[in-house]
Amino acid sequence: MPNYDYSCEQGHIFEIYQSFTEEALTVCPEDGEKVHRIIYAAYIASAARPTSPGAIQAVQKNEYEKSLEKDLPAYKRLRKQGFQPKSTLGAAALEAGATTKFEVQSGKISKEPKKLQQAVDMFEQTMGHSVFTPQVKPKGA
Ligand SMILES: [Zn+2]
Repeated sequence: MPNYDYSCEQGHIFEIYQSFTEEALTVCPEDGEKVHRIIYAAYIASAARPTSPGAIQAVQKNEYEKSLEKDLPAYKRLRKQGFQPKSTLGAAALEAGATTKFEVQSGKISKEPKKLQQAVDMFEQTMGHSVFTPQVKPKGA
């Protein structure tokens, strides 16, 4: 059975096994956002030079997918290590350059990662939850 990678609009990535006849997944199991099947650049036949706007868009999409070829495996390795990067895009750079969990999860590489991590740790000890925990909206707000 083929194995498909999907990406949701929040950047979650997951892979599922599906038969060719099964319909494509449409929503993310984590947050219900729309998902897109990731089609790797390698599978896309290289076409002639783009002339129409549609063809140019297809090339830009191709670039995006090419960057995912590096970012997706990095993203998966980070997830396996217990990190939740914000997005797949840039995951390879984060994997290479980040030294703290905060940097990975915020998607920004800090010049003073140790100080930043200390501040994050202090926050989390004081508040009792992750800095990434979304604010819970009161009902009716
Ligand atoms: Zn999602």
